[in-house]
Amino acid sequence: MTRMTFDLERLTPPVKKLLSITALAAATALALSGCASASTDAGATDAPTNDSGVRIVASTDVYGDIAKQIGGDRVSVTSIIDDPDKDPHEYEADARTQLSLSKAQLVIENGGGYDDFVEKMLSAADNKVAPVLNAADISGFDQKPAEGEFNEHVWYDFPTVQKLTDELVNQLSAIDPEGATSYEKNAETFEVQLTALEQQEKDIKASFAGAGAAITEPVPLYMLTAAGLVNKTPTAFSEAIEEGTDVPADVLKQTTDQFSSGEVKVLVYNEQTSGAQTELVLTAAKDSKVPVVPVTETLPAGSDYISWMTTNLNALQGALSGK
Ligand SMILES: [Zn+2]
Repeated sequence: MTRMTFDLERLTPPVKKLLSITALAAATALALSGCASASTDAGATDAPTNDSGVRIVASTDVYGDIAKQIGGDRVSVTSIIDDPDKDPHEYEADARTQLSLSKAQLVIENGGGYDDFVEKMLSAADNKVAPVLNAADISGFDQKPAEGEFNEHVWYDFPTVQKLTDELVNQLSAIDPEGATSYEKNAETFEVQLTALEQQEKDIKASFAGAGAAITEPVPLYMLTAAGLVNKTPTAFSEAIEEGTDVPADVLKQTTDQFSSGEVKVLVYNEQTSGAQTELVLTAAKDSKVPVVPVTETLPAGSDYISWMTTNLNALQGALSGK
């Protein structure tokens, strides 16, 4: 099966191009709905959008799901990216997304350069009131490290998700004070599950600390590091794949050689970004019987954040245990 290459980081330029279109569409939609509500008292004809509960817009369904877990039925969530197989060119021109942003009461973005389109769309939508939760900022990580590049995939870091959850409770309780107890209760349940995930990372670490791992992109790195694994992939390789540039031949050889040398015990492979060079790495791993654990940037169909991360950790643990 050929999967469509999908990487959120690479969506930004077309989004930029389409911003003026979406802004215009949203302005039109807003003008229309404003007009309709002003002229009709009974039988309002506004489209039945996310008007029940606190309106939250998240850049991806990962954050959308976390918001839903905390907000429960007191919130309505719109995720801008909500389908791993969706053509990235389709969602940008979606005037409904823009409209959702213009009416959002709370916005969640990853930050760290991952989803810059959120704030651009937000200012195009002229929404100055909605607080914006930025996961990269909330993480407290140094986003301009002296060495290497900041890994912006912070939703693979459970302590960050824990902090984000606390922020969600604060913001939601301020917007909807009546729901405060319910938000706190939901957060408690969610945090128990997060703690279980962190425990599983510790269990893996107890058995496999120091084992070498290979990646195609930095996507799962926070999880691998927490599980005690050591990333052996040449930085030049994963950065080139992340940025969509060609990997130099010597770097590619160095990357594939790590499988035959027995240096790495597992390849954690970003399923959503595949190309000729990552395919070569995949083949090299398979040829050397190194187990492959697929990961993604957004929620697989039918899963929520906790079940998704549980699947990821089970797959990692299984691969390392030779199961
Ligand atoms: Zn990525």
